[in-house]
Amino acid sequence: MQFPLTLTHVLARTEKLFGAVEIVSRRPDSSIHRSSYGEVCARARALASALSAASLERGDRVGTLMWNHAVHLEAYLGVPVAGCVLHTLNLRLHPDELAYIIKHAGDRVLIVDETLLPVYEKLRGQIHPERVIVVSVRGQLPFPECESYGDFLTQGKPGYELPQLDENEAAAMCYTSGTTGVPKGVVYTHRSVILHSLAAALPDAFAIAQADSVLPVVPMFHANGWGVPFAAAMVGSKLVLPGPRLDPVSLLDLLDQEKVTRSGAVPTVWMAILAALDEHPGRWKLQPGLRVLCGGSAVPESMFRAFDRHGIELIHAWGMTELSPLGTVCHLKSSLVDRPESERMATRLKQGLQAPFVEIRAMVGDQEVPWDGETLGELEVRGPWIASSYYNLPDLQERWTTDGWFRTGDIVNVDPEGYVKIADRAKDLIKSGGEWISSVDLENALMGHPAVREAAVVAIAHPKWAERPLAAVILKDGCRAEPEELRAHLSQKFSRWQLPDAFVFLEEIPRTSVGKFQKSRLREMFAGWEWDQTAGGSA
Ligand code: AMP
Repeated sequence: MQFPLTLTHVLARTEKLFGAVEIVSRRPDSSIHRSSYGEVCARARALASALSAASLERGDRVGTLMWNHAVHLEAYLGVPVAGCVLHTLNLRLHPDELAYIIKHAGDRVLIVDETLLPVYEKLRGQIHPERVIVVSVRGQLPFPECESYGDFLTQGKPGYELPQLDENEAAAMCYTSGTTGVPKGVVYTHRSVILHSLAAALPDAFAIAQADSVLPVVPMFHANGWGVPFAAAMVGSKLVLPGPRLDPVSLLDLLDQEKVTRSGAVPTVWMAILAALDEHPGRWKLQPGLRVLCGGSAVPESMFRAFDRHGIELIHAWGMTELSPLGTVCHLKSSLVDRPESERMATRLKQGLQAPFVEIRAMVGDQEVPWDGETLGELEVRGPWIASSYYNLPDLQERWTTDGWFRTGDIVNVDPEGYVKIADRAKDLIKSGGEWISSVDLENALMGHPAVREAAVVAIAHPKWAERPLAAVILKDGCRAEPEELRAHLSQKFSRWQLPDAFVFLEEIPRTSVGKFQKSRLREMFAGWEWDQTAGGSA
């Protein structure tokens, strides 16, 4: 049969079959809020009805500025089933960047957490959504344009019926600033979300079953929370949503108390959790079958070994916002499990095998490189949940080849078994605690300081944040500038966590033959930099 792959089906099935399954959210004050798929799905229907009563039409964008909690899940389901587009907003971005993204996407409605009103306050002068709906525990509505989410939900029409959607209609969108300084929107359809959820739930992917208790630490604004909330809702598994409390003790308390069996986060989060486990042996009782998903940056060997010591299985995966985000997942094939430990570890450190329906090739120019585990090429991918363009940015179509593959910008090798290893990035972005920092943007801003002649910013490995920015600066003759002054200058445009933690003042910055900054040389010069442990990060 021709049957549409839509979230409307997921909503109806989950509420019918798994209405009693718990959705647990941690509130900002640390208290636990318990609800269920029954409640979340009913409220998602009410939200859809209210959006329709507010005259939102098919394809209209609804922005969410929210942490991970049950109301965000309501929006994940309720906005798409109304035929609207769930636009999750990265609350860690600078207000100017957020305002640009909201305007570029044309968000007609914004749903904002009460605790994020200070973020909203900083951008409200620059944006003009028609409705600003505040998810409020304490009833705070500080600006005249704000209305309460609870009231909004009551505004739907009685007897409202969800529209019949085509699977190719847009369901969600997300912006990435991953490869250049310009934020780029990626639109996901109902079909792509459903197919991605089916693949993500597979045993050789994230392995999410109905009986699991799933805790996505990865923010729901980062590439659909890696697709985990959609996949969990599709199979009806319990969801545990940590709200804004992302410190390791709070997370370990939840992992223990809610008997979590699946979780996902970037390496930085897991590093902090492992440190807390070592610091307080025996304090938490984690589920024997706990599996944790880790991606966003490469997972170091020390982390695999630490998880092994604690008897927790780590699943290494690679993805991108443009891929919804699942691209590859690393599980050992049955033919490899009896290999010597060193060989197994070498494979586990790779980003893994292509998920079903993700096709891959590593290219140099228009030649595909052999799968010999050595030859490097740029990873190109195609598949049914991979974006075919950026939203309203036709000038960036060169990221897609003429024969329909997406150029990831990641430089990889592929071994004869098909395991992909990310060797480097084509571009020189910095990834700190799972979030991108554009070196080019920082350089441009630094070079806007009156005392700075030239500046190059590079990523240097950091024990906690994976990478942090280091700025190499050449001052103008006769000028002086202290690091604090440069940081203050940059903080007019950047959030605190995006600022370089180290400034080195050089006479000369190494250059390539065509006169560009030779960043690889800079990275070599400052590899092993001793970071001030109190600085930096995206906390
Ligand atoms: P984003 O779109 O923000 O999720 O960033 C995607 C980029 O993160 C990829 O192009 C990679 O460069 C990087 N990335 C994601 N997962 C991994 C991983 N497991 N290992 C290394 N790099 C990764």
